[in-house]
Amino acid sequence: MVVETLKEVGALLEGHFLLSSGRHSNRYCQCAKLLQHPDKAEKVLSIVKEKLEKDNIECDLVVGPAMGGVVVAYELGRQLGKPAIFTERENGEMTLRRGFTIEKGQRVIITEDVVTTGKSFKEAARVIEKQGGIVVAVICIVDRTTSKVTDYPMYSSVKLEIESYEPENCPLCKEGIPYIKPGSRNIK
Ligand SMILES: [Zn+2]
Repeated sequence: MVVETLKEVGALLEGHFLLSSGRHSNRYCQCAKLLQHPDKAEKVLSIVKEKLEKDNIECDLVVGPAMGGVVVAYELGRQLGKPAIFTERENGEMTLRRGFTIEKGQRVIITEDVVTTGKSFKEAARVIEKQGGIVVAVICIVDRTTSKVTDYPMYSSVKLEIESYEPENCPLCKEGIPYIKPGSRNIK
Protein backbone atom coordinates (compact mmCIF):
# COMPACT_ATOMS: atom_id res chain seq x y z
CA MET A 1 0.00 0.00 0.00
CA VAL A 2 2.76 2.47 0.94
CA VAL A 3 4.77 1.89 -2.24
CA GLU A 4 1.67 2.40 -4.38
CA THR A 5 0.93 5.65 -2.52
CA LEU A 6 4.53 6.86 -2.96
CA LYS A 7 4.35 6.13 -6.70
CA GLU A 8 0.92 7.73 -7.02
CA VAL A 9 2.15 11.06 -5.59
CA GLY A 10 5.43 10.99 -7.54
CA ALA A 11 7.55 10.49 -4.42
CA LEU A 12 9.32 7.45 -5.82
CA LEU A 13 11.39 8.44 -8.84
CA GLU A 14 13.28 6.23 -11.27
CA GLY A 15 16.33 7.43 -13.18
CA HIS A 16 19.95 8.16 -12.29
CA PHE A 17 20.55 10.09 -9.11
CA LEU A 18 23.48 11.45 -7.13
CA LEU A 19 22.57 10.92 -3.48
CA SER A 20 23.65 13.25 -0.68
CA SER A 21 25.99 10.44 0.47
CA GLY A 22 27.90 10.76 -2.82
CA ARG A 23 26.67 7.40 -4.09
CA HIS A 24 24.64 6.94 -7.27
CA SER A 25 21.26 5.24 -7.44
CA ASN A 26 18.59 4.24 -9.92
CA ARG A 27 15.71 5.22 -7.63
CA TYR A 28 15.08 8.19 -5.40
CA CYS A 29 12.47 8.83 -2.75
CA GLN A 30 11.26 12.39 -2.23
CA CYS A 31 8.93 12.16 0.78
CA ALA A 32 7.99 15.85 0.57
CA LYS A 33 5.85 14.81 -2.39
CA LEU A 34 3.90 12.54 -0.06
CA LEU A 35 3.81 14.95 2.88
CA GLN A 36 2.20 17.66 0.73
CA HIS A 37 -0.97 15.55 0.98
CA PRO A 38 -2.04 15.54 4.65
CA ASP A 39 -4.62 12.78 4.14
CA LYS A 40 -2.05 10.45 2.60
CA ALA A 41 0.60 11.39 5.17
CA GLU A 42 -1.91 10.51 7.90
CA LYS A 43 -2.52 7.04 6.45
CA VAL A 44 1.14 6.27 5.86
CA LEU A 45 2.19 7.37 9.36
CA SER A 46 -0.70 5.55 11.03
CA ILE A 47 1.22 2.38 10.09
CA VAL A 48 4.11 3.54 12.28
CA LYS A 49 1.73 4.54 15.06
CA GLU A 50 0.23 1.03 15.10
CA LYS A 51 3.69 -0.56 15.29
CA LEU A 52 4.64 1.70 18.22
CA GLU A 53 1.42 0.79 20.03
CA LYS A 54 1.96 -2.91 19.40
CA ASP A 55 5.38 -2.66 21.09
CA ASN A 56 4.05 -0.43 23.91
CA ILE A 57 6.44 2.38 23.00
CA GLU A 58 5.28 5.57 24.64
CA CYS A 59 6.76 9.03 24.45
CA ASP A 60 6.34 12.52 25.89
CA LEU A 61 7.67 14.37 22.89
CA VAL A 62 8.31 13.93 19.17
CA VAL A 63 11.42 15.51 17.65
CA GLY A 64 12.24 15.71 13.95
CA PRO A 65 15.54 16.95 12.51
CA ALA A 66 14.90 19.68 9.90
CA MET A 67 13.94 19.60 7.09
CA GLY A 68 13.00 15.98 6.46
CA GLY A 69 11.74 15.19 9.94
CA VAL A 70 9.66 18.29 10.65
CA VAL A 71 6.36 17.45 8.96
CA VAL A 72 6.72 13.81 9.98
CA ALA A 73 7.11 14.93 13.61
CA TYR A 74 4.04 17.15 13.35
CA GLU A 75 1.84 14.40 11.90
CA LEU A 76 3.02 11.68 14.30
CA GLY A 77 2.72 14.07 17.24
CA ARG A 78 -0.83 14.87 16.15
CA GLN A 79 -1.72 11.16 15.98
CA LEU A 80 -0.11 10.41 19.35
CA GLY A 81 -1.49 13.53 21.03
CA LYS A 82 2.03 14.68 21.91
CA PRO A 83 3.96 17.89 21.24
CA ALA A 84 6.23 17.93 18.20
CA ILE A 85 9.36 20.07 17.89
CA PHE A 86 12.40 20.02 15.64
CA THR A 87 16.16 20.35 15.68
CA GLU A 88 17.93 22.22 12.90
CA ARG A 89 21.42 22.97 11.72
CA GLU A 90 23.02 26.26 12.67
CA ASN A 91 26.41 26.77 11.02
CA GLY A 92 26.33 23.10 10.15
CA GLU A 93 25.78 22.02 13.77
CA MET A 94 22.51 20.28 14.75
CA THR A 95 20.88 22.28 17.53
CA LEU A 96 17.66 23.14 19.34
CA ARG A 97 16.48 26.69 18.64
CA ARG A 98 13.30 28.79 18.74
CA GLY A 99 12.93 28.42 22.50
CA PHE A 100 12.22 24.67 22.22
CA THR A 101 13.19 22.73 25.33
CA ILE A 102 13.56 19.07 26.24
CA GLU A 103 13.23 18.25 29.92
CA LYS A 104 15.39 15.77 31.75
CA GLY A 105 13.85 12.30 31.59
CA GLN A 106 11.43 13.10 28.77
CA ARG A 107 10.86 10.14 26.47
CA VAL A 108 11.46 11.17 22.88
CA ILE A 109 10.64 9.64 19.51
CA ILE A 110 12.82 10.94 16.67
CA THR A 111 11.15 11.23 13.26
CA GLU A 112 12.64 11.19 9.78
CA ASP A 113 11.27 11.01 6.26
CA VAL A 114 13.91 8.68 4.85
CA VAL A 115 16.70 6.92 6.74
CA THR A 116 19.69 5.80 4.70
CA THR A 117 22.76 6.14 6.93
CA GLY A 118 21.04 7.71 9.94
CA LYS A 119 23.36 10.73 9.94
CA SER A 120 20.63 13.32 10.69
CA PHE A 121 18.80 11.41 13.40
CA LYS A 122 22.06 10.52 15.15
CA GLU A 123 22.92 14.22 15.33
CA ALA A 124 19.41 14.93 16.68
CA ALA A 125 19.82 12.12 19.23
CA ARG A 126 22.99 13.75 20.56
CA VAL A 127 21.13 17.06 21.00
CA ILE A 128 18.24 15.32 22.79
CA GLU A 129 20.47 13.29 25.10
CA LYS A 130 22.59 16.32 25.93
CA GLN A 131 19.40 17.93 27.28
CA GLY A 132 18.66 14.81 29.35
CA GLY A 133 15.98 13.41 27.04
CA ILE A 134 15.68 9.65 26.48
CA VAL A 135 15.40 8.46 22.89
CA VAL A 136 12.87 5.59 22.94
CA ALA A 137 12.58 5.05 19.18
CA VAL A 138 13.47 6.37 15.75
CA ILE A 139 10.74 6.31 13.12
CA CYS A 140 10.69 7.07 9.42
CA ILE A 141 8.43 6.74 6.42
CA VAL A 142 10.99 5.00 4.22
CA ASP A 143 13.70 2.78 5.65
CA ARG A 144 16.44 2.57 3.04
CA THR A 145 19.07 1.08 5.32
CA THR A 146 20.97 -1.93 4.04
CA SER A 147 22.42 -2.84 7.43
CA LYS A 148 21.79 -2.04 11.09
CA VAL A 149 22.54 1.67 11.57
CA THR A 150 21.48 2.16 15.19
CA ASP A 151 20.80 0.49 18.53
CA TYR A 152 17.62 2.54 19.00
CA PRO A 153 14.43 0.65 18.10
CA MET A 154 13.56 1.69 14.54
CA TYR A 155 10.13 1.69 12.90
CA SER A 156 9.12 2.58 9.37
CA SER A 157 6.05 2.67 7.15
CA VAL A 158 7.94 0.75 4.51
CA LYS A 159 11.37 -0.76 3.92
CA LEU A 160 12.65 -0.17 0.42
CA GLU A 161 15.58 -1.88 -1.17
CA ILE A 162 17.11 0.81 -3.34
CA GLU A 163 20.38 -0.10 -4.97
CA SER A 164 23.17 2.42 -4.78
CA TYR A 165 26.66 2.35 -6.21
CA GLU A 166 30.04 3.96 -5.75
CA PRO A 167 30.31 6.46 -8.64
CA GLU A 168 33.23 4.56 -10.17
CA ASN A 169 31.18 1.33 -10.23
CA CYS A 170 27.86 2.88 -11.28
CA PRO A 171 26.30 0.92 -14.17
CA LEU A 172 24.24 3.94 -15.21
CA CYS A 173 27.38 6.09 -15.53
CA LYS A 174 28.93 3.32 -17.64
CA GLU A 175 25.91 3.57 -19.96
CA GLY A 176 26.62 7.29 -20.28
CA ILE A 177 23.33 8.37 -18.67
CA PRO A 178 23.68 11.79 -16.98
CA TYR A 179 22.71 11.89 -13.31
CA ILE A 180 20.63 14.46 -11.49
CA LYS A 181 21.10 15.66 -7.92
CA PRO A 182 17.74 15.79 -6.15
CA GLY A 183 17.79 17.80 -2.92
CA SER A 184 21.06 18.14 -1.05
CA ARG A 185 22.35 17.93 2.47
CA ASN A 186 22.66 21.71 2.56
CA ILE A 187 18.94 22.30 2.09
CA LYS A 188 17.75 19.08 3.72
ZN1 LIG B 1 26.09 6.94 -11.83
